[in-house]
Amino acid sequence: PKPSDELSRFLDSGIYELHNSNAVFIDPVRVLNRSYTRFRVSPSTYYSRFFEYEHPAQESNPSSNPKKRKRKSKKKDRSLNEKEQAAEKRHQEAVPLLLKAHESLLGAADFPAIMSKIRSVFCSSAELSGGEEHSFIELGKVWQAPLYDITLDFKSSLLENETDNGENRINERRVLPIFHNLVVNDKPEDVEAEFLKRHYILPRLSCFYMSDLGQIRNIVPAASESGFNLIVIDPPWENGSARQKSVYPTLPNRYFLSLPIKQLTHTGGALVALWVTNREKLRNFVEKELFPAWGVRYISTLYWLKVKGDGSLISDLGLFHHRPYECLLLGYCNGNEMDSGCLSEFMPIKDKRIIISIPGGYSRKPPIGELLLEHVPGVKSARCIELFAREMLGGWVSWGNEPLHFQDLRYFETV
Ligand code: SAM
Repeated sequence: PKPSDELSRFLDSGIYELHNSNAVFIDPVRVLNRSYTRFRVSPSTYYSRFFEYEHPAQESNPSSNPKKRKRKSKKKDRSLNEKEQAAEKRHQEAVPLLLKAHESLLGAADFPAIMSKIRSVFCSSAELSGGEEHSFIELGKVWQAPLYDITLDFKSSLLENETDNGENRINERRVLPIFHNLVVNDKPEDVEAEFLKRHYILPRLSCFYMSDLGQIRNIVPAASESGFNLIVIDPPWENGSARQKSVYPTLPNRYFLSLPIKQLTHTGGALVALWVTNREKLRNFVEKELFPAWGVRYISTLYWLKVKGDGSLISDLGLFHHRPYECLLLGYCNGNEMDSGCLSEFMPIKDKRIIISIPGGYSRKPPIGELLLEHVPGVKSARCIELFAREMLGGWVSWGNEPLHFQDLRYFETV
């Protein structure tokens, strides 16, 4: 196909396949916006960190920060211990692939057009504003938590030859407990919701269950044929360095061993996608303890390569503690009605696929669900769930202690 066809496909889908490499570029804002009808995710609030296009000279160059340079050179002075060597080996295996993927992005005929499209919407959209957000983590802990309600204001669909001045629309209002309860938007349109005087936008056909890990068993379906075929998990891993303070509470690794992955799995099986950090200790834990405890068979690794608004990597590939990429480990969990052999018969996953995007806010992951769909076992329209979610997606169930975080109206604009 001509580059222009690919470009227009990208403008619709937010996904751009890069040729000559196992990589794809995505614009998370465009991908997310396919879940919305009346609202749009605002690009400037999404790309709050790595789109300092206006001031390229100020972009932080890690080696120009004296503190960091000191740390880095300290590392170089002593030889690597066993774990660091193993991590370095993994890293060195990935480097050529990541470089090749990055090259194919920079070399793509549509690259300048893609970046300028992203830039144009970024520059035209408003800055983050609108008062202080609620801390769902804190509110969920207080004794009144079970008493808090969220109000969903559904607007009936527009009839033909009606204009959208709001008056012709018949509203339906639902008031539901916001914590420890499955809150569902079963309409094909996004819905505005209110909670303690703040507004939230719930994408079409989406739902959330907001609770602490202690209540996660409540989302296990009563019958496994209503289980999930795609389970994306981004756990609050401890980062091991006291220097790096997290914006959310973290949990020790052993807490994740008891996640009911098997019980969440659909009768027809599930693809499990787990975000991990680049720490060797964690990778060992996942491979040797966590996946086996969940009954998940490891299949392949997917890399998320992070670029800035100008397409350059967010940090040097050689930096030990600040890699410009993260890994998503993929594995299969068998459903009750499957024998272990049947999974290998379909949907081979390409190993070491690379997804390139401009990162959003701290530790926000790109929406990779759609790219995984072709590898999902079981029923045709896959049932999808995200664990430890901070946002919602059309067609998905979001569970975590703050799945409404990025649904705050401040992250949206009206169309
Ligand atoms: N994938 C998310 C995104 O792209 O924005 C980021 C998830 S973040 C790594 C982990 C999430 O787990 C945070 O929202 C954190 O508040 C939540 N979390 C931490 N402790 C939890 C607990 N005990 N129960 C439920 N969620 C918890």
